[in-house]
Amino acid sequence: MLRLNEVQLPLDHPEDALHAAILGRLGIAAEEMLGYTIFRRSYDARKKSAVILTYSVDVELKDEDAVLKRLARDRTVAPTPDTNYRFVAQAPSQLKSRPVVIGTGPCGLFAGLILAQMGFNPIILERGKAVRERTKDTWGLWRKRELQPESNVQFGEGGAGTFSDGKLWTQIKDPKHYGRKVLTEFVKADAPDEIMYVSKPHIGTFRLVKMVEQMRASIEALGGEFRFQQKVEDIDIEWKNDSGQVRAVVLAGGETIVTDHVVLAIGHSARDTFQMLYDRGVYIEAKPFSLGFRIEHPQSLIDKCRFGPSAGHPILGAADYKLVHHCENGRAVYSFCMCPGGTVVAATSEPGRVVTNGMSQYSRNERNANSGIVVGITPADYPGHPLAGIDFQRQWESRAFELGGGTYDAPGQLVGDFIAGRPSTALGSVTPSYKPGVLLGDLSTALPDYAIAAIREALPAFDKQIRGFAMTDAVLTGVETRTSSPVRIKRHDDSLQSLNTTGLFPAGEGAGYAGGIMSAAIDGIRVAEAVALSMLAKN
Ligand code: FAD
Repeated sequence: MLRLNEVQLPLDHPEDALHAAILGRLGIAAEEMLGYTIFRRSYDARKKSAVILTYSVDVELKDEDAVLKRLARDRTVAPTPDTNYRFVAQAPSQLKSRPVVIGTGPCGLFAGLILAQMGFNPIILERGKAVRERTKDTWGLWRKRELQPESNVQFGEGGAGTFSDGKLWTQIKDPKHYGRKVLTEFVKADAPDEIMYVSKPHIGTFRLVKMVEQMRASIEALGGEFRFQQKVEDIDIEWKNDSGQVRAVVLAGGETIVTDHVVLAIGHSARDTFQMLYDRGVYIEAKPFSLGFRIEHPQSLIDKCRFGPSAGHPILGAADYKLVHHCENGRAVYSFCMCPGGTVVAATSEPGRVVTNGMSQYSRNERNANSGIVVGITPADYPGHPLAGIDFQRQWESRAFELGGGTYDAPGQLVGDFIAGRPSTALGSVTPSYKPGVLLGDLSTALPDYAIAAIREALPAFDKQIRGFAMTDAVLTGVETRTSSPVRIKRHDDSLQSLNTTGLFPAGEGAGYAGGIMSAAIDGIRVAEAVALSMLAKN
């Protein structure tokens, strides 16, 4: 198989144009090509009147060697790389103990899947409920203002990304092509086939719920075991000098599961579990994260600005954006987790706090575009203790609850008023989507002063890139605090085990090793491999 990159065609090209373009680029007759598949399709919308589609295709030829030899100097043609996933280990028939995975987010699910596929029969523990019941609880907050602290947007089967836009791209390096394995498993679990080749794949909430269930069924069929509503409340570590070894995990009901291999895939909101690990001596340090607001615009404004006359084209779908501004006060403001055609969601896991985030359905056909507009902060902003970032998040989440009227409404303000420094009293042309509701007012005390100043400076700057971004009627809601983990549970680069606790494999977003569905899933695969190799060495 041969990969041909950079095949460019106009957006509205006829179906057979790609076939013809491949033949032309390779300089071959039709009968010399046995077939082709699209590996990647992206678009270039810099020239809005002439949007271009760019394809990478894998081509099967009668005589591949001859074509490769003839096109040896063409850097867009090469043998197709082998991206098949290969297991690093196979469990022996007699296993002394079973690995435990804590968390069923993308990291825990993939760690569990790979361990199960290698025959290690993992036990997978999840503090929240199975995904169907969890869905009801999550909507309970959005519809009835009833928060279930153990079953919500952050906690429960599928993890934090279940009620999301389901964006699947990542900028991390992936030399072993683990991302392909993730996409392949998602498609097996009923994700749309196109995620295999579109440049910015996304899934959307309803499909994610079904996929999570399918993945659970596959893991169970391979000998894995899921236990829901089983919060890990303690961990038994045997210490010799400053070096620990995991011996067991203790569940909220008091049950102890003996194991010396624990994958810690707990996400960024398991604040009580971070505290427990810190109290037990596991090495944890503070790490930078970001905070800010959600912003909502009409999706049509973003589409028009990005795609011009091609706005609304089915191949392009609802447009996204990515913005960064470096402020005079030294802070960087950037757009985070942009959800085209989506809604802003209530994402707190703790009573008396308000947190925003965004989600969408596969169709992305809601009226508004939303994204986090967030400011980078570092441990220098919350000095003193490795867990101080959590207190900092809580402080602003509680403030948002207060400013929202203490009913889980989010405090909101129109962009024009926010920039002018006056409270908002009435909505304009943009209706905010956050449920249960938005209480308009003044957001100037909803974040630290430096963050408010930075966002005030950034919004007009963003308007130069997307005309209308600072439109008077766009709506800000707050606060966006769960952008990434406020801590890093450091691990060794080679064994992927905690710096001071052998057998503990900190993984995914909560441990500070991922930021998003895809990178968390990839980290789950890496950690599963490390667990398997360690178990084989000890067996
Ligand atoms: P999580 O998904 O957070 O999973 C951790 C799991 O561990 C949870 O299910 C939790 O209940 C469980 N747990 C925690 N503590 C314990 C314990 N003590 N015992 C047992 N179980 C425990 N990312 C994207 O890439 N694209 C998007 O479109 C996107 N949209 C998002 C929208 C929303 C509303 C949210 C909240 C997040 C979104 N994200 C998105 C971020 C993405 O969801 C996370 O990066 C990803 O889920 C992290 O995966 P994880 O497995 O590391 O942790």
